[in-house]
Amino acid sequence: MRASYAGPEGRCHTAADLRRSAAACRACPRMVPGSAVLDLPSGPRPLLFVGEAPGRLGAARTGVPFRGDAAGTRFERLLAEARLSRADAAVTNAVLCLPLDERGRNRRPQPAEVRACGRYLRAVLELTRPEAVIALGAVALAALAAVEPHRLVLARDAGRPAPWGGRWLIPLYHPSPRAAIRRPLERQLDDWRRLGDFAARFLRSEQLVDSAAIEKLR
Ligand code: SF4
Repeated sequence: MRASYAGPEGRCHTAADLRRSAAACRACPRMVPGSAVLDLPSGPRPLLFVGEAPGRLGAARTGVPFRGDAAGTRFERLLAEARLSRADAAVTNAVLCLPLDERGRNRRPQPAEVRACGRYLRAVLELTRPEAVIALGAVALAALAAVEPHRLVLARDAGRPAPWGGRWLIPLYHPSPRAAIRRPLERQLDDWRRLGDFAARFLRSEQLVDSAAIEKLR
């Protein structure tokens, strides 16, 4: 049966329908028009990573969140540290379009843009039905609070899973190298290792066997 859910216009959607809808969306006048990046699997995933926004040299160029720029390279390294792969997860952003400043540089999305894109984030959650959502940075954490309230604070709660709307919510620092100013890389690596341990319960049994085998080799 074809997966369906209540999308931004209240109709039934697939991932492809949602991608078309986002590509046509012009709700945020300061976003680069038609730049929405949505690269979802066709069905549920146990994990959903939510970042901030497509990066000019990353997702906006490659069409895949966290691929092609420094944050993407760091994301892949942290995933490997957690013994996770992209196949275990869906990856999206709090805002789907590319936010640039007047000089063409990446900028932080405005709160109104995060609010406007909340309808897409909600639809992504309904489509991917994750057991655990990982908020990558403060913007993602705030965007998820608008979808389903929580009281998590990144600096206080980083790396700690919390029950949230019938699933788990785990705040982590954004993979951007800049985040190391607030959370040194060594601590981030610890956060991701703990994420991997926690997430193992949601992953495929064969992967659990692999993880156990890896553990024995250490
Ligand atoms: S960021 Fe989201 S709400 Fe804003 S224009 Fe793009 S798709 Fe629409």
